[in-house]
Amino acid sequence: MQLVWFRQDLRLVDHPALHAAVQQARAQGEAVEAVFVISRAQWRHHHMASVRERFLLERLNVLGAELARRGIRLHLVEAPWFAEVPAALAALVRERGARALHAMSAIEIDERRRDEAVSAHLSVPCRFVPGCCVLPPGRVLTGKGEPFKVFTPFSRAWLREIAAHGYSLYRAPEPMGAPLGWQPLSLPARSAHETRTLRDWPVHEGAAEARLREFIDDAVLEYGARRDLPAEPGTSRLSAYLAAGILSPRQCLAALHSRLGTLPLTRDEPGFAWLNELIWREFYRHLLALEPRLSMNQPFQLHTRALAWRHDEQAFAAWCEGRTGYPIVDAAMRCLKQTGWMHNRLRMIVASFLTKDLHLSWQRGEAYFMSQLIDGDLAANNGGWQWAAGTGADAAPYFRVFNPTTQGQKFDPQGDFIRRWVEELADVPATCIHTPHDGWRHKGREAYPSPMVDHAVARLQAIAMFRQLPTGGDEA
Ligand SMILES: Cc1cc2nc3c(=O)[nH]c(=O)nc-3n(C[C@H](O)[C@H](O)[C@H](O)COP(=O)(O)OP(=O)(O)OC[C@H]3O[C@@H](n4cnc5c(N)ncnc54)[C@H](O)[C@@H]3O)c2cc1C
Repeated sequence: MQLVWFRQDLRLVDHPALHAAVQQARAQGEAVEAVFVISRAQWRHHHMASVRERFLLERLNVLGAELARRGIRLHLVEAPWFAEVPAALAALVRERGARALHAMSAIEIDERRRDEAVSAHLSVPCRFVPGCCVLPPGRVLTGKGEPFKVFTPFSRAWLREIAAHGYSLYRAPEPMGAPLGWQPLSLPARSAHETRTLRDWPVHEGAAEARLREFIDDAVLEYGARRDLPAEPGTSRLSAYLAAGILSPRQCLAALHSRLGTLPLTRDEPGFAWLNELIWREFYRHLLALEPRLSMNQPFQLHTRALAWRHDEQAFAAWCEGRTGYPIVDAAMRCLKQTGWMHNRLRMIVASFLTKDLHLSWQRGEAYFMSQLIDGDLAANNGGWQWAAGTGADAAPYFRVFNPTTQGQKFDPQGDFIRRWVEELADVPATCIHTPHDGWRHKGREAYPSPMVDHAVARLQAIAMFRQLPTGGDEA
């Protein structure tokens, strides 16, 4: 029997490890079985949001049924910590008589160490194959064979590679035998928060593909113009599916390709703006795989370790709860807490606010995001936070600090997004919605907090904090 270990790749299409197991099993006249290891203690240690955990477990129930229909049994194994995974898998391998283990390679350091321990512990071969990116980490390197530290040259090299070699994806496997029964994992009733959040993220068979198709058919060509407006449904909302591997990035490429008849490989082609975001995803994944310190709370630019971030629990709580007195920041943070998701423009605004206006460390923001997001993904989250804080690869320059008021005016001009999430401001007209404390007279005024910092002052302090750093030279 060939055993496939599912991890952050809860799909049947474009699954290289499943494909390899099926090929080998067919060649040797064997069966295929599958396993998923539930590591709740480790997930909590990694700050995984409870809604994300629920999303994964509900998806597993669907995946188990899909596999069973193809004659592949999915085993669910509990190993609370990664350290317990080798023994748990060894027991299953022994019990089921597996002759090889197949999985997709991980990029995060704890996951990689777990996989090394599994390889060392098991008595059968463990075959790890790439599959979480379109191009695997290590394939897009500088002329000197080093990882790119700047996005634009990375994206040029990535596009050259695709233009030269194309890409291909694996179909879902044909049935391996008669359909099997499937005993789903028994889950407690959803909490009210889970019900609200998961409504936006169905996991039934075909749900992610349907959303991808709808976005590609109806919205991808306007993505460039609408992607920064949080009040509009201008982005794909595929992130939770991509983060859990319910959808592969190559499926996204293929959908774009088939809609346009070609892949948009240059900036001015229709559809390129969206492809470019998928390349950002690859950039951060390649970096995380090649720079283990990014998985360990360390900044990419090492000299920024000396930054004197403040410790202020009250300020942090006000940011988390959306009580900063800056309407766009507060709307975004309340939306995150209630839905487990936040628009990209808003992620940039609130991350800048935490680090450059409140001078609190990006690591705290990164962990809080992870604890709330249904699409929590170490590479993208770490990349986004370090970009905003000015500590990352190709980060925003330290002297360019987002102004939360003008960002709101520019990207939520009528205040529609703010009114949706900040009920104290529900009646405020567009003219005052971004500066409700300057001249707006209304009974609700007292209920909405005053700005907790003066942005102009905080901005100068942030710049001074960076200027005091001993200069870099250690970005490698
Ligand atoms: C501070 C911060 C934290 C973030 N944390 C996460 C996270 O935990 N998980 C996550 O998936 N994304 C994260 N992002 C990236 C981005 O905000 C989300 O991927 C995006 O908002 C998801 O919405 P969408 O699916 O509609 O994306 P679209 O705009 O439709 O983009 C398509 C896909 O491309 C990928 N993508 C888009 N933008 C980025 C980006 N800047 N970096 C990496 N990948 C990108 C995502 O997989 C996304 O689903 C973060 C960004 C910032 C600034």
